[in-house]
Amino acid sequence: MLLADYHVHSDFSSDSTAPAQQMVEQAVKLGLEKLCITDHMDYDYPQESGYSFVFDPDKYMDKLEELKRLYHKKIELKIGIELGLQPCLAARNADLTRQYPFDFIIGSSHLVDRMDPYTAGYWENRTVFDGIHRYFESVIENCKAYQGFHIYGHLDYIIRYVPKEKVGQKTSPTSKYDYSYLDYSDLLDEVLRTIISYGKGIEINTAGLKYGLGYPHPKPEILKRYRELGGELITIGSDAHKPEHLCYDFHLIPELLKSLGYKYYATFAEGKPSFEKL
Ligand SMILES: [Zn+2]
Ligand SMILES: [Zn+2]
Repeated sequence: MLLADYHVHSDFSSDSTAPAQQMVEQAVKLGLEKLCITDHMDYDYPQESGYSFVFDPDKYMDKLEELKRLYHKKIELKIGIELGLQPCLAARNADLTRQYPFDFIIGSSHLVDRMDPYTAGYWENRTVFDGIHRYFESVIENCKAYQGFHIYGHLDYIIRYVPKEKVGQKTSPTSKYDYSYLDYSDLLDEVLRTIISYGKGIEINTAGLKYGLGYPHPKPEILKRYRELGGELITIGSDAHKPEHLCYDFHLIPELLKSLGYKYYATFAEGKPSFEKL
């Protein structure tokens, strides 16, 4: 059984209405030993979306420190963050993570070239192949610009947002919505090698299963390749925004990871990983 969920949101993220205490209560109920809250901080999120993925870090630290004290006999609560990465944010992200002692920092791509792949604008004049290709290229650029994060979040996140009308478009060797490692193998190898070369890891994010993709992020082919290239550092997170999604489909993960050659998963405290047996 997995004893830690390391990607969890609360109402410090503008796309969640769950107070952090509710998430902690649910984690205790599920018997977790560790929980890491990782709320969104995305300094460049377009205002017209109606979301502001920016929280007050002082209030955040105070609230989570308070919960840490309140629940310390029941669960180890860790203070994390999910930072939106873009090269233009490197200095601001570095300032923030220098200033606040986060236990764990997820670096994620939610915007590519200041556009959200969730919106139609990103896909305008782009094939499915081009859209996915540009997304993975930008992951490499993000890693080169800023290395203050510990693991890269939901590495193939973009696959959720390929527009339905483009599904099946003849754009890639497999010409399917369900992308294949083989379509982007050189680029994906470079992505994984870059992450490894900076001493960073990836996560297995079960929101892919929640979204009905049939696999977590990233898909097993990529997890396999990461391991083959020497990658070992992997955390596990549900990306829950509601208590009922905590540890989503976690029962599937140990066997999956073991079948791909993994023996351990990581948790973090004060920016340092420790390894738990699968
Ligand atoms: Zn995310
Ligand atoms: Zn998230």
